[in-house]
Amino acid sequence: MSIYHLSFRVCIGLEMSLKSLEPNGVAMSDKHVRAIFPGSFDPLTNGHLDVIERGMKLFDELIVAVGRSPIKNQLFTPEERVAMISELLEQKNMPGVSVESFDGLTVEYAARKKADVILRGLRSLTDVQYECQLAMTNRAVAGIETVFIMTSEQYGFTSSTLIREVASLGGDLSNLIPRNIFEHLKRKSESLRG
Ligand code: ADP
Repeated sequence: MSIYHLSFRVCIGLEMSLKSLEPNGVAMSDKHVRAIFPGSFDPLTNGHLDVIERGMKLFDELIVAVGRSPIKNQLFTPEERVAMISELLEQKNMPGVSVESFDGLTVEYAARKKADVILRGLRSLTDVQYECQLAMTNRAVAGIETVFIMTSEQYGFTSSTLIREVASLGGDLSNLIPRNIFEHLKRKSESLRG
């Protein structure tokens, strides 16, 4: 096993259902596990969707939480992102998965929602470094655990930033983002180009 694969295994260390196991490995079928999947989702990509689809098998409830970051350069408003994701969840019929936006710190939002776990996605070693720092900080300040899901190989290079750039140049993104998001993105790019 390469160092690359080993470090993912050390960092993730979770390949079994959280629905059926307590941290010590004891069965806990009656515990309702609620996870939040926070991010910018500007826009949501097939990589994000892959993480959501895997996450819904691990948790009883999964809330896709669209951050209202005032810092990031945004293409879609938080309301637009929530509407697009909501439309997608309806199309895909994903029980137990919902979407909403939130302000402020992720850990404070997690506490308000009484979330057990923060879910995050990983693509590469670059993600691991940043995400581990974030997860350790969140655990230190709020005692909340983060669970990582490794994306499928075909989405390892997909990022919202890249999608926004390709869209602004009129490129074909149909394999990288869900169909409905592609349509919204096309309209948005056209309106921005005038
Ligand atoms: P943030 O600004 O919080 O990083 P993003 O929307 O960029 O928000 O990402 C949200 C989460 O999804 C992060 O954990 C990120 O690593 C993960 N993510 C982004 N793109 C992908 C992808 N292609 N595959 C798997 N996870 C991804």
